[in-house]
Parts: sequence; C-alpha cells; structure tokens
Amino acid sequence: MNTDVFASRHIGITEKDLQPMFEIVGVDSLEQLIYETIPDDIRLKSPLDLPKGISEHKFLTHIQELADKNKVFKSYIGLGYHESLIPSAIKRNILENPGWYTAYTPYQAEIAQGRLEALLNFQTMVSDLTGMELANASLLDESTAAAEAMTMLFDLRSRQQKKDGTTKFFISEEVLPQTLSLLKTRSTPLGIELVIGNHEEFDFSTDFYGALLQYPGKHGQVHDYAGFVENAKANDIKVAVAADILSLVLLTPPGEWGVDVVVGTTQRFGIPLGYGGPHAAFFATKEAYKRNIPGRIIGVTKDTDGNRALRMALQTREQHIKRDKATSNICTAQVLLAVMAGMYAVYHGPDGLRYIANKVHNYTKMVSDFLSEMGFKQLNSTYFDTVKFKVDDVQKLKETAENAGINLNYIDDNTVSISLNEAFSQDDFKPLVECFMRSQNKKPSESFVKSVEQILPDSLQRQAPFLEHEVFNSYHSETELMRYIKKLERKDLALNHSMISLGSCTMKLNAASEMLPLSWANWGNIHPFVPLNQAEGYQIALKELESQLTTITGFAATSLQPNSGAQGEYAGLMTIRAYHESRGEGHRNICIIPASAHGTNPASAVMAGMKVVVTKTDDKGNIDVADLTDKVIQHSENLAALMVTYPSTHGVFESSIVQVTQLIHEHGGQVYMDGANMNAQVGLTNPATIGADVCHLNLHKTFAIPHGGGGPGVGPICVAEQLKPFLPSNPVIETGGENAITAISGAPWGSALACLISYGYIKMLGAEGLTESTIMAILNANYIKDRLKGKFDVLYTGERGRAAHEMIIDCRPFKAHGIEVIDIAKRLMDYGFHAPTVSFPVAGTIMIEPTESESLAELDRFCEAMLSIREEIDEVSAENPNNVLKNAPHTMEMVTNDTWDFPYSRQKAAFPLPFVGENKFWPSIRRTDEAFGDRNLICTCTPIEAYAEA
Ligand SMILES: *Cc1c(COP(=O)(O)O)cnc(C)c1O
Repeated sequence: MNTDVFASRHIGITEKDLQPMFEIVGVDSLEQLIYETIPDDIRLKSPLDLPKGISEHKFLTHIQELADKNKVFKSYIGLGYHESLIPSAIKRNILENPGWYTAYTPYQAEIAQGRLEALLNFQTMVSDLTGMELANASLLDESTAAAEAMTMLFDLRSRQQKKDGTTKFFISEEVLPQTLSLLKTRSTPLGIELVIGNHEEFDFSTDFYGALLQYPGKHGQVHDYAGFVENAKANDIKVAVAADILSLVLLTPPGEWGVDVVVGTTQRFGIPLGYGGPHAAFFATKEAYKRNIPGRIIGVTKDTDGNRALRMALQTREQHIKRDKATSNICTAQVLLAVMAGMYAVYHGPDGLRYIANKVHNYTKMVSDFLSEMGFKQLNSTYFDTVKFKVDDVQKLKETAENAGINLNYIDDNTVSISLNEAFSQDDFKPLVECFMRSQNKKPSESFVKSVEQILPDSLQRQAPFLEHEVFNSYHSETELMRYIKKLERKDLALNHSMISLGSCTMKLNAASEMLPLSWANWGNIHPFVPLNQAEGYQIALKELESQLTTITGFAATSLQPNSGAQGEYAGLMTIRAYHESRGEGHRNICIIPASAHGTNPASAVMAGMKVVVTKTDDKGNIDVADLTDKVIQHSENLAALMVTYPSTHGVFESSIVQVTQLIHEHGGQVYMDGANMNAQVGLTNPATIGADVCHLNLHKTFAIPHGGGGPGVGPICVAEQLKPFLPSNPVIETGGENAITAISGAPWGSALACLISYGYIKMLGAEGLTESTIMAILNANYIKDRLKGKFDVLYTGERGRAAHEMIIDCRPFKAHGIEVIDIAKRLMDYGFHAPTVSFPVAGTIMIEPTESESLAELDRFCEAMLSIREEIDEVSAENPNNVLKNAPHTMEMVTNDTWDFPYSRQKAAFPLPFVGENKFWPSIRRTDEAFGDRNLICTCTPIEAYAEA
C-alpha cells in the first residue's frame, strides 16, 4: 500500500474487495459497470484536466505555506464581524471533534438529543438576549437573516396588518452595507420597494408595511429606537432590528420596545472570522409568527414513555411539504456554528458575558477618551464598542495603521471608525492610539485619566436578567464543560460511529487533513473586508478552488458566495433572470420543475420572482418528455428556466437529458442543474456536457465539507459563459461578474474558511482520485441494491438496470404487515445505523446513498441489518402492532427495566445481530410526540414540567 496516496484513505473499498463485489453486482469490471450506468452520449471522453493528487503530508505543508501568506492584522473594522476568542475547550471538543461535525441534521430525534439540546441552548440564549419570545436555530448570516425578516413581514401583510397592497419597506441608513446590498437582491423579484433614509426623519403617515433598523448603527452610534417603534406600531408598521449580540448584554433588548423581529450574527460568540464565514445568524420573533419563521426551530415535547424529548418543531422539511408556498428556502443553515456559539454562552454564563461586554465597552471608552483628549473629534454620542473619529488625512492614517498591522474602517476622506472586540487587551491600546498620533505628528502623552463617565444613558441600559437557566450557570470550569459536551455527544450518532447512508446528502468522509487548517489563526483570524494584499493565501486557495470547480463542471466560471445549496439555487436563478433582462427579455418568468424535485427548488424559484410550472415524471421515474414538451410549447414565450436534478432525485441517469436541455434552449430558456448529486458525475460526465447553463454544487455533500448537524454549507454556482457577467458582487470588496447582481451573502466569498476543506479534498485526490471516488460511489450503491435484491424492491433504475450513486427502496408493500417506512427507519437505530432518507422523493420509500468512503465490511453490516429487518417484517402482522418494529427504537431504560412485557426478547430488541453488541449505540429517547410538541410549543430551556402544570 502506497501510504502517500490519499485516495486509499478516502475510499473504503480496496482492490481485493472488487471481485466479490463484482459477483454480487454481476459485472466483470468497473468499466462495464460505468458503461451500464451512464448514458454513452454524456460520458466524458478525456480525464479531468486537474493535477495529480498529493499526499496528506504534502497538502498540510502546502496549506501552511498559503496560511503564511495571509497577514493577521488587528482588525477594528467591525461592520458585523469581530475578532473573537474561541474557548479552547470548545475548539477541541466540538470544532475539532467528528462526533459533532460529522452528525446529520437532527431529523431522527432519538439519536440526536445532544445537538438538539445544544441548539435549544442557542435559541434560549438568543431569546433572552434579544428579549423576544421565540428564536430559531439558525440562519446563514446576518444579511440573509435581515432579508428573511423583510420577506416574512411582507408575507404577513394581510394576516397581521391591513396592508395588502403595501410594498414599501423602510431601511435605516445605519444598516450594514452588505445587508443593504442583499436586501436589494431579495426585494426586487418580489416587488418590494426599498426606501433608505434617516430613521429620525421617517414619515410614519406614509404607507409602509415594515422597517429595518440597526442596533448599534453601522458606525457605532447607539440609537434609542423606543420612540420609533412606538410610532411605527401606532401606524401599523412592523419593525425588524438587526442587533449586535454582545451589545445586548449591556443594552436594552429590542424586544422591550415591542419590535417584531430581531436578527443578527453570533460570530463574535467564539466563532473565527474565517474571512467571512461560516457563522450562525439568529432570527428571533414573536410567538404570533411561529408558523412563518424561516429555518428550523427546536422544540420540547415528550416521548412514548412520557419523558422529556427534543425534536425539530413545526415546519420540519417545510419546503418538501409546501414547495412553492414555503416560507423560505432555508434548509442547511449553520448548525455547528450555532452549537459552538450556544456553548460559548454555556461556558461563560451571564457573568462571563457581562465581563466580556464590559471589557469591550470600557476599552472603547478608553480609546475614545484618550483620542478625544489628544484633540481628535469623536462623533458617536452613545456607543457600545465602536467609536467614530474625524481625522484630517485618512490616507495617511491608513498608511500608518497598516504599517503597524492595524485595520480600521475608513468611512470617507476624513472619517474613520474603530470597533473593539473581546480579543482587545491593554497591550493593544498603545499601538492603536499611536497610529492616530503619528498620522498627525502628535506626541503620545503618557498621562491620561481613565474615564468613569457613563456613555450609555439609563434608558438604554439593560435591566432584564438573562441566561438564568441552570445550563448557563453550571459548566464554567473546563472539566465540567468538557463532560457536558461529551454527555451531549454520546447521545448523537455521527459518522464516527457508523455509516449514514442518507440519499441526496452524500455523507462521505470528512478527512482530518481537510479539517485541520480550520483551527489555524492565519485562516481563522482574517476579517472579510481586509485589503486583498492581506489575504493572499485565501485569494490563491479560493481562486484555485473556483477554477477546480469550473473544470469539474465543464463551465466557464464559479462564484463561491452562496452559503448553502438552496442559496446557490437562488443565486443561479438570479443570474438567469439578469441574463434574460440584459437581452430585453425580462418578461421570461416561467420556471419548469419536475414533480420529483427537492423542495428547495420551487421555494428558490419563487424567491427569484418566477412562476413554478410542475412537469410530471413517468412511471419509470424519468422526466415525462411528452408532458415537458407540452409545457415548454405552452410557455415558450415566457420560459425562463428548467430546474433539473441530474442524475435525477430518483437516482437514475436519465438518457433523455440531452434532448431535454436542447428543448429548453430551443424555446429561449436556460437550464439550471441542481448539483446535489454531483457525486455521481465528477470525472465521468458534467453539467456542461448534459447541456445545462448553471448549477450549484453542495460542497457540504460532494466535496467533503462535514454536515455539522445541519451546516455549514457552501453552495457555489458554476455558470456557462453567457451567465458569467452576472455572478454576484459585494458592496465592500470587489468581486463577481462585470454586470454583477447584488449580494447573495454578506461576505464576498461566502464561507471562505469552509472552502479550504473542499480545496484540500480536490487537491489531495487529484483528477484520478476524484474519478475513482465517483466510480466507487456507484459501485457501492449497486452493491447494496443487488445484495438486497429479492427482499426489497428498488423503485427505479437506468435503462441497463443500474442505480447511480443512490437508490430508492420501496417500503409500501410492508403496509400489509402494518409496517410503515418510519418503523424501518427507527428499527435501524437498534442495529446501530442512522436511517437513510425517508419519504423523499417518494413517500413510503427510503433512499440509500452509501458514498465511496464506506468499506465492504460496513456495507455488509448495513445490508445484514436491512435483511434482518426484512425477516422481522415477515414475522409481524397488522393485527398486532405490539412488535419489535413498531416499538423501535429500544432504549437502555426499556431493556434494563425490571418489567418487560413485550412479546419478544430483550436480546432481540437491543442486540438483534451479533455485530451489534460490539459497538452498541443506545438511542436516548423513544419516539417523540410531534403533535403534543407542536400544540405546546416550547423553544427555550424551560422545563416541560413547568408547562404541564400550567
Ligand atoms: C441538499 C439538497 C439541496 C439543498 O441544499 P442545502 O445546502 O441544504 O440548501 C437542494 N437540492 C437537492 C437535490 C439536495 O439534495
């Protein structure tokens, strides 16, 4: 074995496994398998034009060299991003721990109570600090969270206000520039009219449905919005506030003024800057809007035995149910980062947070006082962590500061702002103020009296207590925190326990070498708005990643800005929209989407201002070309796009694809390919070859970014030449096409830090390893399919009987035994496995995607579990639902209880096959009561007993 070849670590199948697998699958070679799987006309004729893979060791040396090219300055730029101190205990036990970062979104509550609790902590923290009733967990960044507030309030106009026709939304000029840019993007297709102005001059009598304020303002001024909110309420105008979470420790929470929504980022709660992300945003609102909240809410309920249990509440898989009527397209959010931010509050507790907030505020006062005394005019009358100065020569100050390794926020020719943060200490004071002195040739004086003056007026001083729950007051020593984190981790099944074969989610290996750089300061500690010459390492890695993805997709250019697959869909459709407009065809607004599409597709199309037309799939699961042709002809005049997933969500390489994409082009439409299934394509075919014009890629699926329990995600879009000019921009740092659309995410390169993982993945695998990964993913899927043959029916296959990289297994026949698909999903937990994807894209089925990273031994264990469950199904009948499947999963509490009155043995319940005992995973609760939880919605740490008594 050549230990320098990363592919042999990434791929689970070895040379000697091939023959036995071929026998099951019925092929003589991998070539034959691929020939039978991918249609001839779209198979690539030449290998990927990418370099050979490099060893892990070489990659680490390389990424260290790039890291050294980044210059870590002291950044006092602010604008929603602040240097923060990640507690080492959180870094080591969560960020660097596969038990946390390889977990899936907690849909299977019985094996996810750990991260559900961590997210409940996050929600409680946000509710408390904002003073709102309800918070979600979590959103992509502050700017998109603000956009979600704008659109949620827009959708509520008729239900909560009498404002049906009103389209005006007010934005304070204090709002961050990247948020403003994003609001422009998001408002235009929906017909929302933005009016930007000074909130003190706002005319309440005019017809607005809502307003957005920033607290503190973008350059630090803390406004008292109580009066504004009161006036707005009197005039039936809803108010959203974008707030800085650390400032809320000291300031009056916006909830006390009666605002409708509070949004913001939790980045400064122990999350690295990472050149822009990933960071978790928050969204807090009133109970009255609970059914309209974007993203996920974790709620408390009870399990079968009446024990307290957590689960995702209300709108689980919102888009899959409501499709084009969904409240948002948020699917992947930033769960790992939300977990970390919540844990930061657990570790520091209310007193620790108060200490940090006071420290930041007091140092800011010190800087303000000192520079004022030295003759610089400070312009903010009330501030938390940001002061604004008038200076004579900003250019000179900038030179001086940069020479001293300091970044400030240069507002215009003679104004500058300074934002302090948790990392600021006494040692940083002198270098900072000296820049100002030197730039004006003043001599620093040593004597200076510390101010005791109160900067925050009484009305803005927080009175309300916060984080009084036990969890925020218990784990302040490292030993206690470490054990608390471990306690939660043990409740969660992640990839470090067993295969997670979720169809469409591609839960492959997230290699340690790919992850290591994320912990390094030279990657973590770069503010997204620093001059490019301080981020040279990032620029090299990001440019190369863009070009790697461009090569892999066969397209012309890539934008890394979108922070999730769904954001990529939206971004791609917006470039299509801009393209049609640029050709004087702005009327094209029809988006055709197959019935089997992922729910985010229609949700994104609506956000892009398009009308969704659904096209059928035939009984083989393929696009019904006749129906599609009818619809295309019918909408020819107004056809904007087709959204198509390839290989299809049914796990099949449809042979009609080229015909389909040609048809769309003939009628003036563009083809959007949903790239979630790119793991079946890389190196063998590509979106350009099938005739698509744009696709998103889920770097958190195909390209090895860990799922993180539901994020981070990176959803870059790759586009053909004609769409390249429209790639998204950023208002602060120049990026995007020459005719760029406005921002899709707050940061210029989205979640730049997470991009390093995919960069490493591609770099280490190289052309050959990438292609081999695709082939092995296809082999593994076909192996499972054929091992289960005769016992489970596979719904769809290609023309030559092959699955792509995943397959759908029909569980509807088992209804005759009273068994539903969910019973199989839950029973798999007793065998130590996470369920595959349940009831998507076909109700009553499961979709299995093993990926290339699983070994033959693990595939066999999974197949044995499935076959054993199949026998169990045969043993039970609909007449007697008291059986091992209906009662699954079985907890340790059940199995060790003194009473056992189930009609099967304890051993069968918990140790159904010999391999299970060697590595037993105990689900920590029984099945949850969804209806009870939704009726009694509790989304904070309040104990359920308190509610039950009420
Ligand atoms: C995962 C997925 C998406 C959405 O990606 P997110 O990152 O979760 O927003 C879209 N389409 C398909 C087919 C997917 O599997």
